[in-house]
Amino acid sequence: MKSFTKQYLMIHEMNENSDVGNHNCTFDDGLLSQYTYGRNIDNEKIYFICPSFIDNGVNDIGQKCMNIEHIKKLMDLGIEIGAHSYYHTKLWKLPDLKHRIYHIKKDTDLMLKWFDVNLGLKPEKFCFPYNFDLDGLYKAALVPYGFKEYFGNERIDIDKNYATNLGNNP
Ligand SMILES: [Zn+2]
Repeated sequence: MKSFTKQYLMIHEMNENSDVGNHNCTFDDGLLSQYTYGRNIDNEKIYFICPSFIDNGVNDIGQKCMNIEHIKKLMDLGIEIGAHSYYHTKLWKLPDLKHRIYHIKKDTDLMLKWFDVNLGLKPEKFCFPYNFDLDGLYKAALVPYGFKEYFGNERIDIDKNYATNLGNNP
């Protein structure tokens, strides 16, 4: 049974002053600062990686990202790596439901291939890009892929709640 007290922080850019308390941590996008300031934090933590950001070296708002070697180092440290879509697409901008579902399947196939080829890993946890889950349809579309747990806007946004003022998008 899932515990009601098990809440996760949603974390983006970090610095040496980032304070996560004793909360469970989820790190979105694969940002380099999360590698630098997050990997030695002793809390339960998951890094949600978005392959296109890793390949580009930056995310969609220009924040510096890890490379594949950084992610492998995290794996060596026993840290869980989860998936966060391949393209991090703003699905609400696609014209209709048909296009959205089509995109999700293409995106997920590409993402899992990238994880397999580059990390030799099949991720078990998935985090919706922008926490946008299409009212449950995204999750339904992912059923055939066998993810075990999903993450979205049930998480506590550290930027909003802890006012870390790191220059992230609101
Ligand atoms: Zn993201």
